[in-house]
Amino acid sequence: MDNVGIMRIFSCMKNRYDIAIVGGGLNGCALALALASGGFTVALIEAHKTQGSAKTQFDGRSYALALASTRLLSVIGIWDQIAEHAQPMLEIKVTDGRPGEGPSPFWMHFDHAELEEGPMGYMIEDRHLRDAFLAAISNQPNITHFTGAPVIGQKGLGGAVEVEIEGEETVNASLLVGCDGRKSGTAQRAGITRSFKDYGQTALVAAIGHEKPHGGIAHQFFLPAGPLAILPLTGNRSSIVWAESHDRAAEISALPDEGFIEALQPAFGDFLGALSVAGARFSYPLNQTLADQLTADRLALIGDAAHGIHPIAGQGLNQGLRDGAALSEVLVDAKRRGEDIGAAPVLDRYADWRSFDRTTLALATDTFNSMFSNDNPLMRLGRDIGMGLVNAVPGLRRGFMREAAGLTGDVPRLLRGQPL
Ligand SMILES: Cc1cc2nc3c(=O)[nH]c(=O)nc-3n(C[C@H](O)[C@H](O)[C@H](O)COP(=O)(O)OP(=O)(O)OC[C@H]3O[C@@H](n4cnc5c(N)ncnc54)[C@H](O)[C@@H]3O)c2cc1C
Repeated sequence: MDNVGIMRIFSCMKNRYDIAIVGGGLNGCALALALASGGFTVALIEAHKTQGSAKTQFDGRSYALALASTRLLSVIGIWDQIAEHAQPMLEIKVTDGRPGEGPSPFWMHFDHAELEEGPMGYMIEDRHLRDAFLAAISNQPNITHFTGAPVIGQKGLGGAVEVEIEGEETVNASLLVGCDGRKSGTAQRAGITRSFKDYGQTALVAAIGHEKPHGGIAHQFFLPAGPLAILPLTGNRSSIVWAESHDRAAEISALPDEGFIEALQPAFGDFLGALSVAGARFSYPLNQTLADQLTADRLALIGDAAHGIHPIAGQGLNQGLRDGAALSEVLVDAKRRGEDIGAAPVLDRYADWRSFDRTTLALATDTFNSMFSNDNPLMRLGRDIGMGLVNAVPGLRRGFMREAAGLTGDVPRLLRGQPL
């Protein structure tokens, strides 16, 4: 064999992993750490140069993490690093209304005191989560983190898959996981089609400083143009996710901070006193995009690559973490049984496990958004009576809270706080 042949074999061995993950966003990072804790060697391949060290400044982005998601983060060694920055959500108040008119008399109130497990979830800023992930990944010998490494191709090689990174480097693995977001190239290259629905809304996202303390209470106001979520952060700050029509959102985005607060005030109300913008402002066009399949030949999709949903219930990242927890468990169990982790029967178990949850969540977020984002008097009456009913029945109220906390259904081990 010539030198070129020997070099090629050497480079294949060097770049051989159990699992290659394309996309090092939050779901890709969490999955890599979970799989590494289960004894797999992992290539985590991210197009951008590392998005940390975000210790710099708060950029306004934050997430509502369900209680079950925080348990997963504990098992993979992240929660202890970020718990001090997390704000517990002690109560959630949901009301229907019109800007400037105040809430309707029908509303729902969820109080964590009714759940024996504790707070339904926590608010955490993106920078703290991302930094903790990057630090844990750099300390995990089972993970090789490729950054500034856009994946441009993939092909089957019999019992493996070869992933091509721009710049001609390749990585081989028994299984490829597409974690590359709503426009997943990994899914496209595998021929997986996806549905797409534009909601005609843009979410304006920012952290808002306020005069009075929020008391750990999250608010969801259903307004005619779309929902406004006010989610408590540490200190006298809340994160807002404010859905408006694309045109109105573009107008509001173009305003300076003072103009933004003026536009927000009628919808937000004055219950937290004077408001100010506390960080950068973002806008996200809202749509739903669902991959038609979760798996293909030696390929599984997780997170937004599998299902991008409306943020109305703050469940997108939580859903991706559930995908990752289920996939890790299926793969670890398969490895213990001596199965090929990329084989179709193994991947089918993952797809079967996740299909009910993903379909119901997509349907629920879609239905809630269309039911609540309008001013039709009949719809308003119907939804207000529905809210009044849920609020009046303790069993229903607790059911909603357990669902939001991620405690219902066939919960994977990691989300129960157990190791793989
Ligand atoms: C306004 C708004 C508010 C939200 N609030 C919440 C909330 O409160 N709680 C919650 O649970 N969820 C929330 N979500 C949803 C949550 O933000 C997403 O579900 C989650 O961030 C998706 O993470 P991901 O890792 O799957 O995808 P992404 O964050 O899209 O990451 C994909 C990664 O893949 C990389 N990539 C893409 N192509 C390639 C390639 N070819 N090669 C290599 N890398 C590639 C990208 O650079 C990126 O880093 C919200 C969403 C929105 C829009």
